[in-house]
Amino acid sequence: GKLVHDLAYYWPQYTPITSSFAWMKCNKEDVEDCEKFLRGQKIITRNGRRFGCDLKYVRMSLVGKEEEFKLFLERLLAIQGTKLENEIKRLHRVVGNASVDDYHVVVGTGSTQLLQATLYALCSPSDDDSNPVNVAFAVPYYSCYPELTNFLRSGLYKWRGDARTYNEGGPYIEFVTSPNNPDGTMREAIVEKGQGKLVHDLAYYWPQYTPITSCVGYDTMLFTFSKCTGHAGSRIGLEMAERWEKLRQVVAQSGMFSLPHYPKQHCLFTVKFSTQAHPAFAWMKCNKEDIEDCEKFLRGQKILTRNGKRFGCNPKYVRVSLVGKEEEFKLFLERLLAIQGTSNGIN
Ligand code: PMP
Repeated sequence: GKLVHDLAYYWPQYTPITSSFAWMKCNKEDVEDCEKFLRGQKIITRNGRRFGCDLKYVRMSLVGKEEEFKLFLERLLAIQGTKLENEIKRLHRVVGNASVDDYHVVVGTGSTQLLQATLYALCSPSDDDSNPVNVAFAVPYYSCYPELTNFLRSGLYKWRGDARTYNEGGPYIEFVTSPNNPDGTMREAIVEKGQGKLVHDLAYYWPQYTPITSCVGYDTMLFTFSKCTGHAGSRIGLEMAERWEKLRQVVAQSGMFSLPHYPKQHCLFTVKFSTQAHPAFAWMKCNKEDIEDCEKFLRGQKILTRNGKRFGCNPKYVRVSLVGKEEEFKLFLERLLAIQGTSNGIN
């Protein structure tokens, strides 16, 4: 045979320093026709088919004007997402706790900030209605929600109390915390009305705290790295299951305190049956009749907890953090044992 070399672009401005075209392949499984897909994103290329190839390929010209090239790169970046966004999505895909396709990722300084941003975003300032939008969450609720909702004294939204007794007309926002802080239960929306917007706070929906029973896909989902990695403090490497086992053993010594029981479920992440929840907090109730304020009582025994009152509940309840340092946790168990031994625990 005889070869004809078409060297039209074999010039130093094109090669090897740069090439006049980028021969690009799209690796996304759900994109069959890359040229069509990119056209939808305002990137004009030539279809791989025209070069006798697969539709997954495109040829992109790199010899246009400088502004065109910049725009192309910007649009390509926007399609791909930022590195952080991609890593966040990858993590959720691996764990299988939340849908990520077709979702926007908004990053904030912790989910406290994101909760504020969500409230603002869901209460359009241009609404004619000058009444603040009602915000509700069910008792026992995460103790910071009331402060967080009212902190800015916004005229756009206002905390209206327990979602279980919420009974007002008009638009409202309900925070659904699942697993819940403080009691670790799995929750669903409570207010039964059509006009509400839901914010799902999924801070603890990770397999170290609870079985991952489904890949959820709510409109607004809040996660926080502090609970996922445990980096807020020296929590890295914790095994929650062991701590719960030890705590349950100590509490079982007497009937003085009780802890919630969680159903055994199948976790899609660990692929195990009989997985129980191991929440980051223990929602503990004091059963001794003469102790009205459990937090105060425990403080007297050098155990620091958060009062049930702060979660909209009875002061017989306290929330104990189980994600502290190992020495702190040991000390807590020792002191709890000592109380039960010396103060006539109900047997
Ligand atoms: N939501 C829940 C249910 C929480 O328990 C917490 C932290 N305790 C937050 C939100 C706030 O998370 P961050 O520290 O990321 O602001």
